[in-house]
Amino acid sequence: MGIRRGTATEIHKHHALSRPVTGRGPSMSFRKDQEMPQIRADRERCEGYGNCVMAAPELVDLDDDGVVVVMRERVDEVDVGKAESAARACPVNALRVDR
Ligand code: SF4
Repeated sequence: MGIRRGTATEIHKHHALSRPVTGRGPSMSFRKDQEMPQIRADRERCEGYGNCVMAAPELVDLDDDGVVVVMRERVDEVDVGKAESAARACPVNALRVDR
């Protein structure tokens, strides 16, 4: 009498399909990381002057052979200015920042 069996199940199905999907797919931080500016070092070209390290010691360093190593390739907007200063400071253009 007016009771339609299965109705609740139908509603449930509908909700399951229209529910916003959470916790799936690539995280925001992953996607953002791919879009962040990247510091690139040409270690063949580097002559170990260290100017870049003076400009951005938290982003680049010299290894035991006195050749530049990038410690943090991806930089956010806060650090991109420093990264570009480091690149400008290099007398042999061994660093660049790709946006
Ligand atoms: S300033 Fe240039 S040459 Fe000097 S250490 Fe840095 S990358 Fe190498």
